[in-house]
Amino acid sequence: MLEASNLEVVYDDVMLVLRGVSLRVPAGKIVALLGANGAGKTTLMRAFSGLLDVHDGKVTKGSVTLDGEPIHRLPPAKIAALGVKQALEGRRILGELTVEENLKVGGHVKAARVRENLERMYELFPRLHERRRQSAGYLSGGEQQMLSIGRALMSDPSYLLLDEPSLGLAPLLVQQIRDLIVKINDQGTTVLLVEQNASMALSIADHGYVLETGKVVMDKPASELLADEDVREFYLGLR
Ligand code: ATP
Repeated sequence: MLEASNLEVVYDDVMLVLRGVSLRVPAGKIVALLGANGAGKTTLMRAFSGLLDVHDGKVTKGSVTLDGEPIHRLPPAKIAALGVKQALEGRRILGELTVEENLKVGGHVKAARVRENLERMYELFPRLHERRRQSAGYLSGGEQQMLSIGRALMSDPSYLLLDEPSLGLAPLLVQQIRDLIVKINDQGTTVLLVEQNASMALSIADHGYVLETGKVVMDKPASELLADEDVREFYLGLR
């Protein structure tokens, strides 16, 4: 289990962004994290993956633990080696490199596993196989998103952290990303999913959290969140 307990995060030593957040990601599950812009979702992801430092953020209280062991003082590479990996936001793929080279960059595993994992990625993402020798910079938005997920998966993480994987994608592609997350989870990877697209996220999640200005305001099974009046109105646009 990956867990944040009473987590407080401050940027630039002054700006308090997470105000005592507790969130659990049990092994094997899909957990959705919802919230308006600026609520602190990305910050929480960074706390899990160790990327706070890069952004001048710091944990000032509470903890992040993996199976009970604190990991919030560890560098991202160490956290990744323990099996917690974030697919980089903003599709930060390396545009000059080919699709296949991008995938290989993600694989901090033994050489023999790289080949095996590449095959698994091409099975999960047939589109990436077709385009494996092309520069990643020429991929469409959806393909780049898939490459970013594929790259994170190359190191066999136990926990995959996804920040807005459906952002800016056409409905058909959102559907594909959704199916893919289900498949990845079926194959044994636990997923923490940050999404503006609440209906997509809740339709596949086991459990969901709603974050508002750095605090958890809802913590329920996804099916209950889908039925909740406030969630329906504010996050699903239904009344
Ligand atoms: P969005 O959906 O818009 O990405 P979010 O819920 O992911 O929002 P965060 O990106 O975690 O929210 O931001 C939470 C708050 O922290 C915001 O007020 C943001 O301006 C601030 N913030 C984020 N990154 C930094 C940083 N590197 N330095 C200072 N403040 C930051």
